[in-house]
Amino acid sequence: KLVNKAHGTVFEINLDAITHNLNYYKSKVKPETKIMAMVKASAYGSGSTEIASLLQYHRVDYLAVAYTDEAVELRQNGIESPILILNTQPESFSKVLEYDLEPELYSLKNVKEFSAFIDAAHEGDSKVKVHLKLDTGMNRLGFKSEDILELIQLLKANSKLEVASIFSHLAGADNKAHDTFSKEQINTFKELSDLIIEKLGYQPLRHILNSAGIIRYPNAAFDMVRLGIGLYGIEANNQSQNDLQTVGTLKTTISQIKTVKKGETIGYGRVGKANHDVKVATIAIGYADGFDRRLSNGKGQVWVNGTLCPTIGNVCMDMTMIDVTKASAVEDDSVEIFGTNQSIFSLSETLETIPYEILTKIGHRVKRVFF
Ligand code: PLP
Repeated sequence: KLVNKAHGTVFEINLDAITHNLNYYKSKVKPETKIMAMVKASAYGSGSTEIASLLQYHRVDYLAVAYTDEAVELRQNGIESPILILNTQPESFSKVLEYDLEPELYSLKNVKEFSAFIDAAHEGDSKVKVHLKLDTGMNRLGFKSEDILELIQLLKANSKLEVASIFSHLAGADNKAHDTFSKEQINTFKELSDLIIEKLGYQPLRHILNSAGIIRYPNAAFDMVRLGIGLYGIEANNQSQNDLQTVGTLKTTISQIKTVKKGETIGYGRVGKANHDVKVATIAIGYADGFDRRLSNGKGQVWVNGTLCPTIGNVCMDMTMIDVTKASAVEDDSVEIFGTNQSIFSLSETLETIPYEILTKIGHRVKRVFF
């Protein structure tokens, strides 16, 4: 039996499992390869400050977030590690300076704006670190080869800027079918970054591998790797899933159990139907907590004391009804949505999505409990 200390939904985070997973990925690259840990979107839903503190304790070289406010939150909670921000806009440049953050620069417009800001706002001799994102085939943010010469001119024109790293992102590292494409991306990255380094006259760090890339292309680690989903115990290409430890378990509790008579309906819209007498448990999780409404009326199932129990009726905002006729269940029992006993992969398959989306959609009000 699972035991919940509190009634309601909690997302339990096993910090030792994060440490294990970090060490696993470290063992795949050379000892001198630096690690950038991705803690964007509240550390993939797991709680940014707590996870960042652990990673800082383990001396990861860099943390990365998507937006400036995420980085400011970390600084305000005492995180001192270098932090890369993947998407910084002019309205947040002053915070970048104030909190000693390091922006990704991805377009000529972006470089011009940041450079002009630094010229005007940064005093003293210290350099401001920036990171150049190259687009090698993802077609998201980043410089293409035709931008490189102007990029170099802009960077050389501002002696206050220092390129701390050059990087790119693989579009299909989690899928063997894209192997040729990934290798082309790696080759393009090498060529373009070689050119930039030659023109700059100094050597920033280089990095292109995400979690799946580390497993598939460890020889392309360059100076640093960017570890995301793997840290949280999920191996996107499933190659080494068994070597990772489960980090997050989403659990809730049974608020009430009742027998619904044959012919009655259950929940909103009267979609749930009792085709026979059904033992129905109402659990304290709804779509506001990240329990997707598409899991309604039998499409989803949760783990109750060793039995998988289907939902019955529509998922509500704060509650869901499940059919516990076949389970041994009493009120206040704990129920697992995914984690130790039921893999997040089965849920992501049901929802036709990826575990990343499920993790990052766990509701704000769900308590994160660390052990
Ligand atoms: N690097 C960049 C630029 C990313 O956007 C992400 C995640 O989205 C990662 C690295 C980490 O990827 P993963 O979580 O697949 O390891």
